[in-house]
This record gives sequence, structure tokens and C-alpha cells, in this order.
Amino acid sequence: MASKELARRFTSMFGAQPTIFSAPGRVNLIGEHTDYNEGFVMPSAIGLRTRVAISRRPERKLLIRSQHFPESFEFDLDDLPQQATGAWCDYVLGIAVVLQQTGHAPQGANLLVHSEIPIGAGLSSSAAIEVASALALMSLNGTVLPLAEVAKLCQHTENAFIGARVGIMDQFVACLGKAGHALLLDCRSLDFELISIPDTVRMVVCNTMVKHQHASGEYNQRRKECEEGVRILAGWYPGIRALRDISLHQLVQHSQDLPETIYKRCRHVVEENERVRESARCLRAGDLSGFGKLMRESHRSLRDLYEVSCRELDIMVELAEGLPGYHGGRMTGGGFGGCTLNLVEETEAEAFADRISVRYQQAVGIKPDVYICSAAEGAKAELNRAG
Ligand code: ADP
Ligand code: MG
Repeated sequence: MASKELARRFTSMFGAQPTIFSAPGRVNLIGEHTDYNEGFVMPSAIGLRTRVAISRRPERKLLIRSQHFPESFEFDLDDLPQQATGAWCDYVLGIAVVLQQTGHAPQGANLLVHSEIPIGAGLSSSAAIEVASALALMSLNGTVLPLAEVAKLCQHTENAFIGARVGIMDQFVACLGKAGHALLLDCRSLDFELISIPDTVRMVVCNTMVKHQHASGEYNQRRKECEEGVRILAGWYPGIRALRDISLHQLVQHSQDLPETIYKRCRHVVEENERVRESARCLRAGDLSGFGKLMRESHRSLRDLYEVSCRELDIMVELAEGLPGYHGGRMTGGGFGGCTLNLVEETEAEAFADRISVRYQQAVGIKPDVYICSAAEGAKAELNRAG
């Protein structure tokens, strides 16, 4: 839904003209499960966006509504719940609470949320709603923060208020993504480089339409396994803080000293960090087939070493092989369902989308959602009350 339509609905709902802020969903080209190991990732913002329309109201209350859920929520700014309520509004509420805690107290407001990003599909609708809500609430009290700080505030909200131990990647690219570019991010220093993606390719996102129940438990388990790996390896390499600090050579030397499962997890992270740096070199050189090869390797590693893939993701990745214009692909996001990402020549993207959809439906019996994406712009103000 375009901003104008959202503004129209907002006005008929609240009788005021809104200001609108938006933030994009994202795909991660490569670098999976490396962000919380202080490593490297390379996401891109995509053209599907979440918009938050806002207007001031005189009472010290927040009224929060979404176009996707029937319930509306009202909170007293002087008595905001300090814990998640379990409802969808937590992502907006959490931002308000964290703004208040950090000295940027929000003002009374009406908010209306709309998202083009499929919710819970691994395209990070959560980071998008956080970032758009943060910009919206900040606009009313005149808070201006660098976008990297907004990203950190949103990550903190998801960690501390929602209770999901996510890394910084999603919020960072939702804030700082750029049209036509991938964003190579060092998750430790937050140094980043925007690398141009050739105009001749598209990122084709295929949603398996499954999300296995145990996903979040497994995610926390993987984080613990990585921490355990660091703890053991620090016995030989006292200076290390995260798996980011270990080279493949160092890891292999101690393969016998680590429990097998921990070794496999560490090996994925260490090699995945190397793949991200290598794929950045490929992208800078315009070498898409080299990039695609690294994506395939990333998928195999996530399947066999990190063990976060699932049958549907593996099928979706295998079905892409041999289709015209395909450079490479892999699961993207946390795993156990969600989406695959495929790098496909622009001229073949439509046909690729049609064929993979038919093939997946034949193999699994579910019709997948397929999106043909280009790298898009990060968070922005879309419509202010003057316009
Ligand atoms: P993902 O980030 O992969 O889409 P998450 O489970 O992390 O999945 O976040 C999804 C949650 O974010 C939803 O359950 C809902 O609470 C919230 N959310 C995202 N977009 C919206 C929206 N447009 N309206 C209301 N809630 C939303
Ligand atoms: Mg999320």
C-alpha cells in the first residue's frame, strides 16, 4: 500500500493528517549466523516496506493500530508496561519504552502500521516495524539520532523487551541499506561498505511457507554452542572474544579438543566469515558466478555443519539448480523454514519464479510465495503533513 492510501485510511480513522515513516525488509546475501559471533554479513534491503503513520494527540497516551490485526491498543505514557504483553503491538510499545528509558521520552500519538513484508517469513518484518516506529516516535519529540544509533536502539528493544537474542544485522540494514547495493557489515565495529550489485541480476526470494516450531529454541541453542566453542578455544587462544577471532587453521588444530557438535558449529561460523569476505571480492569484481558458488557452499554448510536447514529449504535450493539464468542460492535468515534467496539474471527472473513455483508445488504440495527483488533504500520519511 502506498503512503497516500495509508494516509487516507489514517485520516478517516483518526481525523488527522499523518506523517509517515517506512523501513524495508531485507534478505541476507551471505553471512548466516555470523552476526552474533561478531563476524561479517552481507544483507540488502528489499523493496517490500513497513510504513508507520503517526500524528500527535493531546493526551499522554499511545494508540497503536495495524492494518493486519483487528485489535487496537492504548497505553498511558506515564504507566507503560515494562514487559512484553505478548501481542503484536509489543514491537511498537517496546520502542516507546526504550526511547523513554534512554531519555527520548515519546509524546502522545496515534499510530497506524501497514506492512508489505510477509510477517514471520524471515524477511525481518520485525526490524522494519521497529525502525519505522522509532523514526515515527522520534519525529514527534524532535529526537535526531544517527541511523546506526537507531539500529542499536531497535536491536536493544528486540533483545531486552521482546526477548529475542537477535544480532544487529536486520536493524542495521533496515536503517542504512541503499538502492542497488549490498551492505557488507562488520558486526563488531559496525564499519560497513556498500557494494554495487549489477543491474542485470535480481534477488529472487522463495518462501517455503513453512516455519518449524522449534526454530527459536534451536537458535538459542546455536548461540550457546558458539559461546561454548569460544570458552574452550580461549584455553589455547586467551585473547579471543568471539568466533570472529579464530582462523580456520587455528580451529582445525584443535578439532580433537572440541566436542564434535561444537566443532561443526564453529567450523561453519569461521568458514562463513571467510566466504563473506570472498563474496565481497567477487561482487566488487562483478563476478556473479563466483558469488553464486559461495552461496551454494553457504547453504551446504548451514545444512550439514550448523544444521539449521530443513527439508523444504533443501528442496527449494535443489530445485533451482539448472534453471536458466541462475547463479546460485541458499537459505536466508535463521533457518528451519522461511525463505531461500536466489541470484538470477534479470531477463530470466520471471521465468525462474514461475518454474520454481511449479516445481516446489509438485515436490512439497504447497504453493510458495515468490518475490523478485532488487536492492532498495533503507529507512526514510515518506510523507510529512505538508505533503
Ligand atoms: P520476521 O521478522 O521474520 O518477519 P518475527 O517473528 O521476528 O518474524 O517478527 C514478526 C512479528 O513482528 C509479528 O508477530 C508481529 O508481532 C510483528 N509485526 C511485524 N510487522 C507487523 C505489522 N505490520 N503489524 C503488526 N505487527 C507486526
Ligand atoms: Mg524478525
